[in-house]
Amino acid sequence: MRIMEYAKSLSDVCGVANLAKDEKKLIENYGEDICKYPYAIVIGHKMIEEIIEKIPLTYNNDEYAQEYLDEYYNSHQRVSKIASKIALYIEDEGYHAIVLDVSGKSDEIDLKKPFSNKASAHIAGVGWLGKNNLLTTEEFGPRLTWATVLTDAPLEEYAGDEMESLCGDCTMCVTACPGKAIVDLPDPAESYSPEKCGNYLMKRKEENHPVACGMCLYICPYGNEKSRKLLNKNY
Ligand code: SF4
Ligand code: SF4
Repeated sequence: MRIMEYAKSLSDVCGVANLAKDEKKLIENYGEDICKYPYAIVIGHKMIEEIIEKIPLTYNNDEYAQEYLDEYYNSHQRVSKIASKIALYIEDEGYHAIVLDVSGKSDEIDLKKPFSNKASAHIAGVGWLGKNNLLTTEEFGPRLTWATVLTDAPLEEYAGDEMESLCGDCTMCVTACPGKAIVDLPDPAESYSPEKCGNYLMKRKEENHPVACGMCLYICPYGNEKSRKLLNKNY
């Protein structure tokens, strides 16, 4: 279908979640409107590699920390623009489309709580939630920003299945996290502590540094060749 060719041409990672498959659970969590349309196109957009590679230096260099923080927000803007272009294309093809913003909301639907873009990407099977609670892909690891387009375009044949975690025995983000916010448990709801992560970021702020820390994003061997070599040596 031309819609998917177009979506793929603008994305680094792209997939389709069949929301109807998880309808009961989704409606329970988010309200009826989340299933207004049966499909969600998930769009993964790569953050700038050169900036990500400097993350280990950000702890002693505020300029690099600010650069990473800016890229974090800029990549959100870029992926939102891509999502809007795809939504317009879908409408030109005669179907409906709703873009969820980066925080998982839209004025066009009434949700009990924001629909995480990570959740739609997970349902679409383009990646898994790592121990660091980041959506992780085999090719680029967690070095992506995500957006979602809800649509009634007939995309059944493109819908994926939820992916099993490929974290396995890896504990690189657990060891590297300066806030001790990640522990070695398979379920990200238990392994990642948003409170501890937030406390670490607040501490950085109190010390007058930019509020940036992406070590768990940087270190993941999926997307980081150096980590990958270390991991292969250790296992
Ligand atoms: S952002 Fe930093 S403190 Fe928070 S979980 Fe990741 S590595 Fe740990
Ligand atoms: S660093 Fe290892 S444990 Fe952490 S998310 Fe990546 S693969 Fe999973």
